[in-house]
Amino acid sequence: MTSVDAIVTTDRDHVWHPYSPVPGPPQHIVTAAEGPYLTLNIDSGFLQEETQNARVDCHVLDGMSSWWAAAYGYRNPTLDAAAHHQIDTFSHVMFGGLTHEPATTLAHTLLTLAPAGLHSVFFCDSGSVSVEVAVKMALQYWRSHTDTSLHRKTQLLTWRGGYHGDTFTPMSVCDPEGGMHTLWQGIVQPQVFLPVPPADQETSLRPGPLESSIGEYLAEAERVLSQRAGTLAACIIEPVVQGAGGMRFHQPELVRGLTELCRRHQVLVIFDEIATGFGRTGTLFAADACRCTPDIMCVGKALTGGYLTAAAVLATRDIAETISTGTGALMHGPTFMANPLACAIGQAACSLAVTAVEEGQAARIERELRRGLAAACDLPGVADVRVKGAIGVIQLVSPAALNCDAATAAALREGVWLRPFRDLIYCMPPFICSDEQIATICRGMVAAAQTATV
Ligand SMILES: *Cc1c(COP(=O)(O)O)cnc(C)c1O
Repeated sequence: MTSVDAIVTTDRDHVWHPYSPVPGPPQHIVTAAEGPYLTLNIDSGFLQEETQNARVDCHVLDGMSSWWAAAYGYRNPTLDAAAHHQIDTFSHVMFGGLTHEPATTLAHTLLTLAPAGLHSVFFCDSGSVSVEVAVKMALQYWRSHTDTSLHRKTQLLTWRGGYHGDTFTPMSVCDPEGGMHTLWQGIVQPQVFLPVPPADQETSLRPGPLESSIGEYLAEAERVLSQRAGTLAACIIEPVVQGAGGMRFHQPELVRGLTELCRRHQVLVIFDEIATGFGRTGTLFAADACRCTPDIMCVGKALTGGYLTAAAVLATRDIAETISTGTGALMHGPTFMANPLACAIGQAACSLAVTAVEEGQAARIERELRRGLAAACDLPGVADVRVKGAIGVIQLVSPAALNCDAATAAALREGVWLRPFRDLIYCMPPFICSDEQIATICRGMVAAAQTATV
């Protein structure tokens, strides 16, 4: 058994963590995870408690669902059973020249659950890769037309405040000033940006002045589209919720309006539902609330309930047929494409998602988050408190007001794991959390917000 000391030093000196240097800041060690709980082994110094230089075990609620993925909790019996069954059958085979029941069943399920009109599925191994594939599909679609003037349609339209992943194509459509990728200006493909979408006032517990109306926003989009449509292949957005780019919510009507405008200007529409998919905002997909079907849709994260890395790109029949009869093959094929273990777990996770939506879990959690986060509204340093489905956000007045370590430690002392960043303290708890557990997560968020410096 490796000692805790050895884990800590190897991790610090040799292992890269997300968005971190090497050697990096201390990380907390996960020793177990069950239901909505993580067991963490933490340096007591981090918690700023009395006992010095000791390691303490903390049993904490995971307010993050491991970055949206573990929506049904850890060691979920249904997902464990699906995993065991598939491991005892076979865990992985290549997908070139071979197929298998877990892949076809999951493809069929995804197409049944997704907005009507999506027709074909490309499986890949992570969200960022699914965005790469979606963009490749969009570009290849236009290249597949005999009218060569359409081959100039190679740029992407998006809006500021988005997040689509960390490989180079997704980076090009992330918020250009959001901080994550500013180092790469001049390297990543220049794309066309609309302003940040106006906030959905109804999600805010203390709505500010109206930023701009949907009508004004769409008029601006129309102007950009009329000028640039000749070079635009697709518009890529996160519908209803902008996640890691700023945890902002906008109205479904805006998404619907923008989709209609794009269609009118011959620009394809890509929905990145990697974060919003599988019931997080209340409907199975955010697209359902928008009452529209994109040409291409990316799903990931909760697709396997956080068990394995997997994502999928869904496309309309028009996309699939135009590419296949025009330029022919879609030249993409990740080694672990349609991994059988991931597909089998994904199939089971889809059934859990359907049940969670039928039971109204996101609506229940939304109600409890609104109740529990109200206490943050009047704290010094808090700029906004907002809730959409099973997502709760406390935004501080500026990044300078948030000491991430102090906020994280305050939440841990309340028994809650959060990962605040920039000016944001937020949660997207597992759907299996009880009302009392959501109340605890809210107490953790409020305690984190109380560390704000103003
Ligand atoms: C997380 C995320 C991605 C990237 O997915 P990875 O699996 O981390 O590559 C892309 N888009 C959205 C909206 C996400 O939330």
